[in-house]
Amino acid sequence: MSDWKNICKDKDSRPKEQKYKNWKELTPIPISFPDNAMQTGNWRSFRPVLDKEKCTKCGICWLYCPEGTIKQGEDGYYVIDLTYCKGCGICAHECPVGAMEMVTEEEAQESDVE
Ligand code: SF4
Ligand code: SF4
Repeated sequence: MSDWKNICKDKDSRPKEQKYKNWKELTPIPISFPDNAMQTGNWRSFRPVLDKEKCTKCGICWLYCPEGTIKQGEDGYYVIDLTYCKGCGICAHECPVGAMEMVTEEEAQESDVE
């Protein structure tokens, strides 16, 4: 069985770290990529906020984001492009250490978090 199929197991038995160096190593699966037509606009009600104190830079959030809007920065931490983020919460749900928290857009704008 291809390694990537392990991601379909229940959360506790999945690999805790993704081993792929880049997207070219992934087996073809249905994913979507952002372009201008997929900009979120102002309808999103939640956004993910990363806690760098908890983040282990494992890349699970990058692997699971259906919008392809999470990128790894030069410091190794993962960054969310809110232009395309839909606020679905999958990254927060899949993060093995709870480093991604979903907050309401109102909370985020009041506290000026990104
Ligand atoms: S909330 Fe959804 S769209 Fe936004 S970064 Fe997380 S997984 Fe991607
Ligand atoms: S936010 Fe969570 S899933 Fe994403 S890299 Fe950090 S520890 Fe891994």
